[in-house]
Formats: sequence, structure tokens, C-alpha cells
Amino acid sequence: MTVAPHFQHKNGVLHAEDVALPLLAQKHGTPLYVYSRQALRDAWESYRSAIGDRKVLVCYGMKANSNLAVLHEFKTLGAGFDIVSGGELARVLAIGGDPSRIVFSGVGKQAWEMKAALDAGVKCFNVESEAELLQLSAVADAEGKTAPISLRVNPDVDAKTHPYISTGLKDNKFGIAIGHALTVYQRAQSLPGLRIVGVDCHIGSQITEVGPYLDALDKLIKLIKTLAEHGIRLAHLDLGGGIGIRYTDETPLSPATLLDNVFQALKDNGLEHLELVLEPGRSLVGNAGVLLTKVEYLKHGETKNFAIVDAAMNDLIRPTLYSAWHGVVPVVPRGGAEAPHYDVVGPVCESGDWLARDRQLNIQQGDLLAVMSAGAYAFTMASQYNTRPRPAEIIVDGKADHVVRPRERIQDLFATETTLPTA
Ligand SMILES: *Cc1c(COP(=O)(O)O)cnc(C)c1O
Repeated sequence: MTVAPHFQHKNGVLHAEDVALPLLAQKHGTPLYVYSRQALRDAWESYRSAIGDRKVLVCYGMKANSNLAVLHEFKTLGAGFDIVSGGELARVLAIGGDPSRIVFSGVGKQAWEMKAALDAGVKCFNVESEAELLQLSAVADAEGKTAPISLRVNPDVDAKTHPYISTGLKDNKFGIAIGHALTVYQRAQSLPGLRIVGVDCHIGSQITEVGPYLDALDKLIKLIKTLAEHGIRLAHLDLGGGIGIRYTDETPLSPATLLDNVFQALKDNGLEHLELVLEPGRSLVGNAGVLLTKVEYLKHGETKNFAIVDAAMNDLIRPTLYSAWHGVVPVVPRGGAEAPHYDVVGPVCESGDWLARDRQLNIQQGDLLAVMSAGAYAFTMASQYNTRPRPAEIIVDGKADHVVRPRERIQDLFATETTLPTA
């Protein structure tokens, strides 16, 4: 069993839905990102069924995987989008996404991005500082528009996750200290071109317990009441994203557990009228993808063995950036003897170029491996370091496979570069 239901061995061969991965490797080459359409749908369904008839807008945190095919699939299923740049806005508009279901997050929104989002008509700007508030007011006023806003508050709770993906502690760069929020809301009220519609927080990523969300919610509820006492009434409450997935043996929080707890707290405080917004990214796509790679060489050292594969840190940076653990699964497992332990590494000229460490693997040169849980923060964080073309992205749908982004061609990597004039 792998961590991903739509990536399972059948007759000793790992499949994506009904397609054998060796076939995809043959057809499209490696390394290769392979996603499952049904996995995307199932992940969406876990939110939809948990929501029932409650008032919740799920805005897909699209930086996890922003391929147009993935965005279009979620749009069709009913998702809104959480964007963090003008580039992401352009992607949503390119697939015909509804701007009134877009929330715009991020600490460093530039004036042109604000203008583009105002022109599109987004649902809400999640404002992260007083300075940003002033700039947004000026941009909206100059455009003769009104910007709907939430303040992203920093509730100072520990999401109990990796420091690089923890965003709700007071020494993080994100959000406005919750103790200062009332003052900034009042400032917003006094500025032209702004309309207060909600409050927002996003405390981190790969969160596996409900506790941190409820701690944050508690503080937000107190703030909402204080705001109401000062005549500031909100239409929505955005709890951000961050729901974790199973990479190895985690038991992640389910959308149903989160929603049941959140709605209970809202009800206990007489706040059921608020619309709830969620911004899940990883939990909608993480286990919907694998990174398929081929073993180029095996290197048996004195203290360590290395499996040198054709995927590298430029294709999946999470292991070296966050010390993240990804399952590594032989596509056609070899039975038998006690297997050696390997560090699975790529060809990039960096000691930090590793995908997995100390894994017991019965493998030989030329074997295919699937690096699991590569649907989120894999392609979107990929680079062309070492002039490596980024791999193709494939979506499998039953027995069919669709190229949703072709492998980059080497000549295209430097096609727009020029040399200096000679003296
Ligand atoms: C990254 C991000 C998300 C999505 O986070 P996941 O952990 O992938 O669910 C949601 N909201 C904001 C503001 C983000 O920065």
C-alpha cells in the first residue's frame, strides 16, 4: 500500500489509476510528474461532503500546484482560488475562473497587482500590514474603485509544524499582530477606496491537528466581537489553508473534523451567520501526484550507498528545503533478499541534492522509482538549475494519459538570452 489510493501496485507494477507507470516512462520519458484526476476529485469531495449545506467557500491555495488543467478541474468542481501574485491571478483568468471567488493573499502585493485584482473584481484582499493598507487605498481611490478587504491577523499560535512552513507565530513576517488589529481596522474605516468585509488568518502548512486551528479561531472570535462593539461588522471569516496530508505515517486532520469543530465554535458564539472561507492547497493535490524517476547509477560507498536518479532537487526541493520526507517506491518491486540502504540523490552539483535518505531499496540500475506525494509544492517550486529542463506534467484519467505541460526543451531554456556586443 502506498500513501496514495490512486497510485497502487497491480500485478506487481505501480499504476496511476489504470495506467502502468513504466508505460508513461516509455512514452514521455523521465523524470515525469504524474497526477491522478480521480485523486483531485476525491480530495475535493472530502471537502464538499464535509461542508454539506453550510456556508463555506473553498478557495484552492493554488501555489501548491498551479497547472491550468488542475485549476480548471477545481473550477469545474466549484472551487474559488487563493492567489498570492498577479501571475496567479492571470492563471485563474486564463481558465475562466470567477474573480468573485478569488481571495488575494501575500505580504508584498505590488501596485500593479492590486490594480489587476481590482480590475478583475476579486472577492477580497487579505491585507497584511498597515503600509499595504495605505497603498491599496491609494490604488483603489485612483482607479475610482472600492477594494473589499480582510486583515490577515497573526494570532500567535504554534501550528506545530516545520519552522519554514509555520506562519502564525509573532516573529513570522506574516499578518498583523492580533493585538493591533482593531487599530488597523479603524484606520481602514477612515481611508477612501476600502470596504471591510472579513478577517483572515493562515497559521502554517502541513498541520495535522485541529488544536492550532481552534486556538486561532478562539482569538479571531474575540476580535470579531471587539470589532462588532466598535461598529465594524464582517461578512466572512477566512481560516486559511494548511491542512496536512499523509507523507509517511501521519494521521492528518480531516476536513470534516475541522469543519465540525469550527462550526460548533461559531455557533457557541452566535456567529453562524458568517461565511467561512478556507484556502487549502496541499490537502487538495499533495497525494494526487508522484514524481517518476529512473535509477541512473548505484554507487556503493564505504559508509553510504547512493542511488543516483534522474530527478533532482530542482524538480523536488522539499526534502532539502524542509527536511521533508517523501516515500520512494519501486515501480516494479523486486522480491527477495535483504536490500541495502540508499540515499536517493540527483545529478545536481550540490550536496543538498537529495530526495530521500537511508531508504532500504532492492533496486538495480535502470529501475523506475516513484517519489510519492509530489502533487503539491513540487512542480511549482521547480527550477532549471544546472540547465535542466523542467519535466512534463501528465494527468491520468482512467486508462488515458494527458500531457498538461510538455517537457521543456533545452534550446528554449536560453532562447531569449543574448550575448554582449563585442567592443
Ligand atoms: C500557501 C498558502 C495556503 C495553502 O497552504 P496549504 O498548506 O498548501 O494548504 C493558503 N493560504 C495562504 C495565505 C498561503 O500562503
